[in-house]
Amino acid sequence: MKHVFPTYSRFPFDLVEGHDVYLTDDQQNTYLDFTSGIGVCSFGYSNKIIQDKVSDQLKKVWHTSNLYENQLQDKVAGQLCNDDQLAFFCNSGTEANEAAFKLARKYTGKTTVLAFNNGFHGRTYGSMSLTGNPDIQKGFEPLVPDVEFANYNDEKAIDLIDSNLAAVILEVIQGEGGVVVGDKEWLQKVQAACHENQVLLIIDEVQTGIGRTGSKFAFEQFDLQPDIITSAKALGNGTPIGAMIGNKELASAFGPGTHGTTFGGNKLSMAAANGVLEQLTPDFLESVQSKAEFLWDQLNEKIKPFDKVTSISGLGFMVGIHLIDDVAVSDVISELHKQCLLTLSAKHNTLRLLPPLIMDEKNLEKGVELILEVLTK
Ligand SMILES: *Cc1c(COP(=O)(O)O)cnc(C)c1O
Repeated sequence: MKHVFPTYSRFPFDLVEGHDVYLTDDQQNTYLDFTSGIGVCSFGYSNKIIQDKVSDQLKKVWHTSNLYENQLQDKVAGQLCNDDQLAFFCNSGTEANEAAFKLARKYTGKTTVLAFNNGFHGRTYGSMSLTGNPDIQKGFEPLVPDVEFANYNDEKAIDLIDSNLAAVILEVIQGEGGVVVGDKEWLQKVQAACHENQVLLIIDEVQTGIGRTGSKFAFEQFDLQPDIITSAKALGNGTPIGAMIGNKELASAFGPGTHGTTFGGNKLSMAAANGVLEQLTPDFLESVQSKAEFLWDQLNEKIKPFDKVTSISGLGFMVGIHLIDDVAVSDVISELHKQCLLTLSAKHNTLRLLPPLIMDEKNLEKGVELILEVLTK
């Protein structure tokens, strides 16, 4: 690529077509996809319901701005929220977290937010400032002030939650940070400390949400009730979208003129999200859970005992295979490309798997077999 800033190190092929859980590149190789476009295309690449809804909308109108009523936006918000919540739509995960950060400061009248080391919340200034990864922040200082960091799953973090904080932001499973699963008891202590001190709990479900872990949002499996939830990635199955969901009482701080975006809640992305959420039924989530059980049995049986693997972490269709230092995850990913399997990495030499939620057991097994084959070499 000659005309684009080199902000990404890209693999040397272009995925030009997709069907179901397969992607085909410009050299006629067809890959089994264990990435979902980084946790986005959970319903694969040719989902009829989403395709029909987007193409029907495409024929009517694409964009109208937020100056007018938008019934489709309200419908999707209704699908996303419970009766005590409201949604704000934007275009990405980082924007959803920006909205959450702004709302938390404005509603509480306080400024400081506690975030966690190895957390990831996005690349714009607010979200980057909340991201506990110096590699991502380096060279971009000064960052947004009044952000503090603690270690994830660390008891000492609980003591840092006092009434001076506006909010605590966290992922219940740190995705980019290496697929680190939050300890349920620790997360509940964080929530209790937030409640005690009138601190808002923001849960970033950008990667873990919309069925990825087997429930609509991952925090449900940790018995949590956040004040603010952020969503993006899989919400539009590939159309650009983000959403911030918050408790209704927060609306007093987000009145007309306080926050906004031109594209947020546009009708094409809303049509896609409507199709995603319509299919995210209890039955569908149950099928994800049962397929995930199969996947984890496969991983525990075939991959975990391997001497090149130190551990496997994750939940549902979100998996981190932790490799020993001698085996570079980038080499494993490249070798898997030769076997026509697409996979991802995460921090700390982690091979990350985020297969589409529609993948059947046969293909899940095939992917695991290919990983086994490459690790054996
Ligand atoms: C990907 C991600 C983001 C950022 O989303 P963008 O759409 O890339 O801005 C934020 N939080 C988490 C947990 C993510 O995984």
